[in-house]
Amino acid sequence: MRRKIVKPGRFILFILLVALIISSCSSKVLTMISSGGHNKILYKVVIDPGHGGKDPGATGASGLYEKDFTLSLSKEIARLLEEEPQIEVHMTRKDDTFLSAEERYRPNFANDLKADLYISIHGNTFTDPNLSGTQSFYYHDNSQAFAQLMHQYVMNASGFKDQGVQKGDYFVLRDTNMPAALLEIGYLTNPQEEQKMLRKDFQRSVAASICEGIKEYLEIE
Ligand SMILES: [Zn+2]
Repeated sequence: MRRKIVKPGRFILFILLVALIISSCSSKVLTMISSGGHNKILYKVVIDPGHGGKDPGATGASGLYEKDFTLSLSKEIARLLEEEPQIEVHMTRKDDTFLSAEERYRPNFANDLKADLYISIHGNTFTDPNLSGTQSFYYHDNSQAFAQLMHQYVMNASGFKDQGVQKGDYFVLRDTNMPAALLEIGYLTNPQEEQKMLRKDFQRSVAASICEGIKEYLEIE
């Protein structure tokens, strides 16, 4: 009885071909599993509307409160992020609730979720009503690139002056475990800037830009 002999050359070629097919099919899945950082299937993003309840934040030039501006813009950001299949969005507050700073509610909320990103939304304030511009903060070194990217995206949409990205010792940035940025969209104490910031179309445009920035950072298509 003759045994069928497989030539080694052909056999190696066959194995290589199979390996190539398997690797091309599963490379994306493998990257998703192995990377841990980028290319994950689902990212948790926390949007934190600054202030709330008995803490109104800044009082704008018109007398309106920062806490209402931050909630309105944050809801718009969350609404857009909810349309992204790879993003799971969470808000630290969805209404006019006071969140205790002493109890560290905001950073604990994000840490307990094991969130991937944290964005705190604010409106700036100053005694001189002429001061204007977008300013952003980070605290930990691993948040600097994220804050810089988000700042650029907010600036692109706001068209406000560049007040830079600085290291800021805010507890929401210091006590969060994930890349975190605090965005002072503009000065509510500047009457012209406040008027723009309160407009729905302005908020929609800034929210869309922030979403684009998040997607770029997470490398989501
Ligand atoms: Zn604030």
